[in-house]
Amino acid sequence: MTKRVPLFIDGEFVQSQSEKFLPVTNPATQEVLCEVPFATQSEMEAAYASAKAAFLTWKETPISERARVMMRYQALLKEHHDEIAEILSSETGKTFEDAKGDLWRGIEVVEHAANIPSMMMGETVENVAREIDTYSYTQPLGVCAGITPFNFPAMIPLWMYPMAIAAGNTFILKPSEQDPLTPTRLAELFVEAGAPKGVLQVIHGGKEQVDFLLHHPDIKAISFVGSVPVGQYIYKTGTANMKRVQSFAGAKNHMVVMPDAAKQQVINNIAGASVGAAGQRCMAISVAVLVGEAREWKHEIKEALQKARPGAWNDPGASYGPVISPQAKERICNLIQQGVDEGAEILLDGRDVVVDGYPDGNWVGPTLFAGVTPEMSIYKDEIFGPVLCLVEVDTLDEAIELINNSPYGNGTSMFTASGAAARKFQHNIEVGQVGINIPIPVPLPFFSFTGWKGSFYGDQHAYGKQAVRFYTETKTITARWFNEDTKSGPNFSINLK
Ligand code: NAD
Repeated sequence: MTKRVPLFIDGEFVQSQSEKFLPVTNPATQEVLCEVPFATQSEMEAAYASAKAAFLTWKETPISERARVMMRYQALLKEHHDEIAEILSSETGKTFEDAKGDLWRGIEVVEHAANIPSMMMGETVENVAREIDTYSYTQPLGVCAGITPFNFPAMIPLWMYPMAIAAGNTFILKPSEQDPLTPTRLAELFVEAGAPKGVLQVIHGGKEQVDFLLHHPDIKAISFVGSVPVGQYIYKTGTANMKRVQSFAGAKNHMVVMPDAAKQQVINNIAGASVGAAGQRCMAISVAVLVGEAREWKHEIKEALQKARPGAWNDPGASYGPVISPQAKERICNLIQQGVDEGAEILLDGRDVVVDGYPDGNWVGPTLFAGVTPEMSIYKDEIFGPVLCLVEVDTLDEAIELINNSPYGNGTSMFTASGAAARKFQHNIEVGQVGINIPIPVPLPFFSFTGWKGSFYGDQHAYGKQAVRFYTETKTITARWFNEDTKSGPNFSINLK
């Protein structure tokens, strides 16, 4: 019988009583790895009840003890690094190196969460009025929840619950139903790290399970990462139910190439950033904007992309793996066809790529379009595949205008040798994460992941100080202690006296 992924409720890994299960497949072979349950109402209620009960003791646990759980957790994640990466590769198809990167970027957040005491420090001012002091504390919210996408099954769950839990909350995670084995392994190691019963729950499923979280009257905050339509739905529904919501959504990231940039570096960086992870990164470069004479580099870009090839997770020569599902492949191929139909020049077409030994994989070869214009669907829609669009402009100002007109604002980068041009770009560009000669500028966890515009709905972003703000309330106390010299009569004004 096919293995079934357990739910993680009240400190136990339990088999769901659900009647609805979905197969989880290896995208390189279509082998069914396991089945994922769609948690029942009573299982979700049990998860909430356990998280609520655990909150009452967890929030009273000294902050340094909470930090120590994170220290042990990061050590365990490192110890099991390769084993987790192998699980991750099996269900996402990512190359082993890329799977390790997915986990590593999550471990960095756990390391950061271990620094929670200093991040939760409040502020103090003595003598705000005569012999009156004001000081503030940050306190956890209660039960928080997170809903995560398929494309980073280690990193994105680790963006969320380590920060929330270190801050004193308890957390219900609803991972992607397409790759639930990695987050399950992450939860097992969290227990091994000493996380008390109930602080983390993992429920599986889809919309119905997400709706339970969004409508629950006592779940205080929702963290979401995924596509634009779902991200908008989460933000609208969560806030309509009076919750805090941070909702990270889709993207279309541009790389601006100036003619004075180091050409070979540009070419290498474009190839890795556009087709790496089969283009299934929210920070992937999907549009390269060639400015002025950089237009002439088209053919070298084509040669570099042509050398990239998809392959199995353990093929050391593979540049990237398959896309997540046959449906994803079909969607990508349809968008490629639309690009052709709308008049873009297809320089490389990856639709018929073959990977020896893996006839059933969801392979898409590197695909390159030139002559792309902003009206085309390949420019407007997030393709989420190994497809790069080349757009040509005459000046940096035109490039900036193009990007600022995009509804997305997750990431962008610019390659140049000119500090003045880079300064102009970083200052004027309406995108939340900017790389200067860096193709995928994902900030390390002591900063925050700061997507803008249609790529993010909310105000406090993931990890860093902003995550601490998102997962806590500030309580500000104004205090006076009377002594024999205190002179105070009735005060009928609002002033402190
Ligand atoms: P998705 O939106 O299909 O799914 C994300 C999560 O939402 C999953 O857990 C899924 O079960 C749930 N979900 C799906 N449909 C739902 C519905 N109708 N109602 C409620 N919940 C629903 O996204 P995906 O395909 O798993 O991930 C890829 C997307 O995620 C891309 O658009 C990518 O750009 C985006 N992404 C964004 C960031 C970021 O930081 N901005 C990071 C990674 C991925």
